[in-house]
Amino acid sequence: MASILKMHFEEKRKRLVESLKDRGILTKPEVIKAMSVVPRHMFVPKDAESSAYMDSPLSIGLGQTISAPHMNAMMCEYLELKEGEKVLEIGTGSGYHAALCAELVAPENSQNPGHIFTIERHKELVENAKKSLKDTGYEHKVTVIHGDGTLGYPEEAPYDKVLVTAASPTKVPVPLRDQLKDGGILCIPAGSKSFAQNLYVIKKHGTDFKSTKITGVRFVPLIGKYGFES
Ligand code: SAM
Repeated sequence: MASILKMHFEEKRKRLVESLKDRGILTKPEVIKAMSVVPRHMFVPKDAESSAYMDSPLSIGLGQTISAPHMNAMMCEYLELKEGEKVLEIGTGSGYHAALCAELVAPENSQNPGHIFTIERHKELVENAKKSLKDTGYEHKVTVIHGDGTLGYPEEAPYDKVLVTAASPTKVPVPLRDQLKDGGILCIPAGSKSFAQNLYVIKKHGTDFKSTKITGVRFVPLIGKYGFES
């Protein structure tokens, strides 16, 4: 029974990846591979498992969501993640996006594995994400931290890439700006608390930041000292 179910999920995942490729969202071979191997159904609540490979966001409790797969794919592509990189993610949620990033910076048998540091403000989600990451074998590649991610994580700075998966009131929160390496990339949704947000890809060049607006998006708000008030 378990192996039939596994095949069922693998088949659905394969179809999702094919459709993201057909839509021109997935283009980079390494991102295609990551989306093809990370089992999204193991990061969603049990009652949502059968919807795990639909291209839509799903509730993960506490009013929070796991983003739609096309959004995970886009952000991974724009971040230009490479083996060996150190990445900071703000908004762990389910842990799925952190696992995708881990596949990219620390692929199996890597001689130069990178690492993901991911911060979540809800303790219950931290615990759920840690369990999912352990069950899927990513626990040694991802460190989950409970706290206010708008402060970044200076203990491990600087980062090659910073990924924010909740909508920020500002495009470049000060601590994240300071903790990004020169030449690094920040991918962040920014705008109002509930509507009218855009996804930005921001490249740091010394004290300059080159920002590109990608598309309109809708994310849950980034709540914290350098985010929105709760
Ligand atoms: N990346 C997640 C995934 O793969 O499931 C989806 C993230 S969900 C859209 C946004 C998350 O950001 C929520 O879990 C929310 O609790 C979290 N969040 C919001 N503000 C935060 C903050 N200041 N620090 C850390 N996490 C925050």
